[in-house]
Amino acid sequence: MSETEKKCNVCRLVLDYSCYYAHSSSADGLRGDCKECYRKNHAKYRPRAPSSDDSVKRARISTVPTIPGEHLYVWAFWVWRVA
Ligand SMILES: [Zn+2]
Repeated sequence: MSETEKKCNVCRLVLDYSCYYAHSSSADGLRGDCKECYRKNHAKYRPRAPSSDDSVKRARISTVPTIPGEHLYVWAFWVWRVA
């Protein structure tokens, strides 16, 4: 293992530094997992992203019933101001 190589934490292969993405907060300035493992890991979680967006939309829809109450309050305030 030369000075420009390190072992990937995931696949355990000894790879050149060019096979790792930079990571500013790590000791050697590189990620612990190689680009290939990072890519695989990233691909594994990517399909979940759209469903999490959907859950955010659903969460927003579920909060809608509180909004008419706010509108009612604003409407009541407006009626009070006009009256
Ligand atoms: Zn790897």
